[in-house]
Amino acid sequence: MQSSHYPTTLYISVQDMIRLVERKGLTNCLSGVAAQIERDFLRWNEFDKSARLASHSEHGVIELMPIADANQFAFKYVNGHPRNTRDGLPTVMAFGVLADVATGAPRLLSELTITTAIRTAAMSALAAHRLARTDSRVMALIGNGAQSEFQALAFRDLVGIRKLRLFDTDPQATAKLMGNLKGQGLELTACTSTAEAVRGADIVTTVTADKTNATILTPEMVEPGMHINAVGGDCPGKTELHRGVLEQASVFVEFEPQTRIEGEIQQMCAAYPVTEFWRVLAGAHAGRRSPAEVTLFDSVGFALEDYSALTFMRAAALELGIGHIVELVPQAADPKDLFGLLSPEGREALIPARIGQVVVMH
Ligand code: NAD
Repeated sequence: MQSSHYPTTLYISVQDMIRLVERKGLTNCLSGVAAQIERDFLRWNEFDKSARLASHSEHGVIELMPIADANQFAFKYVNGHPRNTRDGLPTVMAFGVLADVATGAPRLLSELTITTAIRTAAMSALAAHRLARTDSRVMALIGNGAQSEFQALAFRDLVGIRKLRLFDTDPQATAKLMGNLKGQGLELTACTSTAEAVRGADIVTTVTADKTNATILTPEMVEPGMHINAVGGDCPGKTELHRGVLEQASVFVEFEPQTRIEGEIQQMCAAYPVTEFWRVLAGAHAGRRSPAEVTLFDSVGFALEDYSALTFMRAAALELGIGHIVELVPQAADPKDLFGLLSPEGREALIPARIGQVVVMH
């Protein structure tokens, strides 16, 4: 065990995360992250929150997502480049950090690409658990890319979905999803259009990637009692729903100031009524009010979900002895003598960082 003055940083690589998910089980990760998000959303007012900082370019966006409570600061680096898959790169790539608020020492550096898919699906399912009809069994899943299997399994495990109706403009993406989810207790139907997939569905998840104001869902596709989980519209000029869909629905958001900029509601006036989802969890808002009401979760992805996911993954890594210590910041014997570290004698004063050691402490 090292003293708290030593800024020991745990590193969870992609390989580590794959092992962690394998050993813990994806279902336990999805439900564990959802439970952590719920606990943290119930502490909403303890967090210093801000809309994320976005750097837009022709084909995508790179974002920094900070958040802190009295103890921990977290941030995520994440991009969104819908054309990337043509060049063999994922649309979304991310990593994240947890740091001590008291000292600023970074304590965790983690992959967040796999974890983002888990946390986004966990958040979607948590919202649907409160907003969708409790007898929801059929979900249309529009967009069958990197996020889609995680969404499917979170809705199977946390919401009770048993049948999926699939559509993607790329049939190979749907074939990939059907292969990955074979034998997972879900009845899978490939459809030839969004309209066909959506017909008769209790829940509609849109998780497409295109840097445009798309109209994946149009008002005539929406049926009474549907819950819409709109995940892919998450950036200015990148939406998935016709504004008429919003006009038919009660709209729930994560952090309103950010969603006004990035969500489906960017199409609406600044005063368009929405409810922050934490209010539903806290019992301050009823959520769904009738079986015929159309509910819409306008998901964009909020920093608190990453704070929760990082917290869960760090605890799981420590429990399983997964991860390594990395030397991210110097640990000099005299913290005022940074310059001295550059001399041969100074290097000897560098406190051995136990780099590469597997972490078994807390
Ligand atoms: P991806 O590129 O792997 O998959 C997207 C899929 O959408 C592709 O298979 C593509 O063919 C399909 N698609 C594009 N236009 C379509 C259309 N009009 N109809 C049907 N299918 C269409 O991307 P991904 O990693 O799965 O991410 C999907 C979306 O979710 C992205 O827009 C991403 O930015 C967003 N996202 C949101 C959150 C959040 O918290 N809200 C988190 C992660 C990703």
